[in-house]
Amino acid sequence: MTDKTPRLTTTGGAPVPSNNTTQTAGERGPALLQDYQLIEKLAHQNRERIPERVVHAKGWGAFGTFTVTNDITHLSRAKVFDTVGKKTEILSRFSTVAGELGAADAERDVRGFSVKFYTEEGNWDLVGNNTPIFFVRDGYKFPDFIRTQKRHPKTNLRSPEAMFDFWSAHPESVHQVTILMSDRGIPVNPMHMHGYGSHTFSVWNKDGVRHWVKFHWRSQQPIKNYTNAEAENLIGKTRESYQEDLYNAIDEGNFPKWKLCIQAMPEEDALKVPYNPFDLTKVWPHADYPLIEVGEMELNRNPENYFVFVENAAYSPSNIVPGIGFSPDKMLQARVFAYADAHRYRLGTHYEALPANAAKNAPVNHYHKDGSMRFFTNDFGNPDAYYEPNQWNGPTADPEVKEPPLKISGDADRYVQEDKDADYVQPRALFNLLPQDEKERLFSNFGAAMGPCSDGVKERWLAVLKRVHPDYEAGVRKALQTDSDVNAISVTDDTEVTAK
Ligand code: NDP
Repeated sequence: MTDKTPRLTTTGGAPVPSNNTTQTAGERGPALLQDYQLIEKLAHQNRERIPERVVHAKGWGAFGTFTVTNDITHLSRAKVFDTVGKKTEILSRFSTVAGELGAADAERDVRGFSVKFYTEEGNWDLVGNNTPIFFVRDGYKFPDFIRTQKRHPKTNLRSPEAMFDFWSAHPESVHQVTILMSDRGIPVNPMHMHGYGSHTFSVWNKDGVRHWVKFHWRSQQPIKNYTNAEAENLIGKTRESYQEDLYNAIDEGNFPKWKLCIQAMPEEDALKVPYNPFDLTKVWPHADYPLIEVGEMELNRNPENYFVFVENAAYSPSNIVPGIGFSPDKMLQARVFAYADAHRYRLGTHYEALPANAAKNAPVNHYHKDGSMRFFTNDFGNPDAYYEPNQWNGPTADPEVKEPPLKISGDADRYVQEDKDADYVQPRALFNLLPQDEKERLFSNFGAAMGPCSDGVKERWLAVLKRVHPDYEAGVRKALQTDSDVNAISVTDDTEVTAK
């Protein structure tokens, strides 16, 4: 020990005499229970893990800056957008959906794309994916869907049979499954993919005028993806390619950037467009609602501690700020509850007070009280002000930040089903815009993914594809008749990393 070396202490701060030798009864006797430091050290190791996320367990994240580049104050009163040039600190987290905490990064899967904005009116979480849509449009379906992506209860293996059985019973999933099986199903790393808020949200301005909005993160790095064979080859060498790529890029000063854009739909258009604008399985065509630039995000700081700032980061669509709101999107409404609840379970009652989640630029004044990890004081300088309303000038609600009233219309059927024919229109538009070489890879990716499925499930899914486009069904049927392994490898013979 030198003068400069800090003294090792107990968790209570008392200096520790030894970190090597268990106290024993006599020179060769058994250990003493009074060696509290030994017990404390072992007990802490036993408690180093928290439950991993049920979905989006494996993730990569970084801090950065969001800068406003275009004035949208006519659309939103959110302070984060109020001045061109304004900068707000953000914390991002990207993830795969199905794989566990130790899963390989470069697997075919949807990617989570979450950004926490530490705004001056509280934290705004934009918790989306690298796809503009999702597999299902109703929160009722989410637990069943995720079950099919996880391990079979008996074999403990992933089950293509379950995945395609579920998808073929939910034809609205064909839009997202098409993206998943396309080139964009395996981005080379988070920097080379777009992000989307996916849901329809709302914004309102200072006059109380509401627009429905979709959020888009447009990568300023070229879109780059791996083929199945390239990914398999990479995973054979490293399972941590995303962490390596993102961490090293930032460490070397190559800061990745995304433009934030919105599509904005006047409130009354919601009843006029030929698709349900609140259906998470549908996009809004760009021709109808062009992208409006809002700002730019740059990731420029690796967190000092992965667990503290990435594993503990708790994103929830329930975190909105005045000027940004929800919509009748059923999946969004389910997520507003489910995400915050997942964090209460995974991190604890007061997860919002953890360093990754605590508001940095806004005062936090609430009357929630005790519970595990209550390490904040909210007595507002007066211990008598612990309920509301009170005579002690404790915090009160501000009606000025109320969102404008929502006009409700329609019949009284609370279980209304969507028009199933509409489910095939947008996947068809996507299929039609793919160049022939990407279509061929799409077919072969289905061949590899569906190879293990039963004939019954294959035929049911092929029937769904036929309703999208006869060429789609024919291409996948042909790929299924080829040996799926040979098929997957042959794609790479003439395919390098795909850049568009
Ligand atoms: P556009 O031609 O204006 O846009 C097509 C969009 O598709 C672009 O954003 C393009 O991204 C993206 N794209 C290209 N290849 C893929 C792929 N393999 N997986 C996912 N996205 C891809 O057409 P529309 O707006 O009229 O939409 C047509 C179809 O494009 C939709 O039905 C939908 O399937 C898909 N799409 C639409 C989006 C939207 O918000 N309107 C967003 C993403 C996809 P890029 O610009 O990088 O080439």
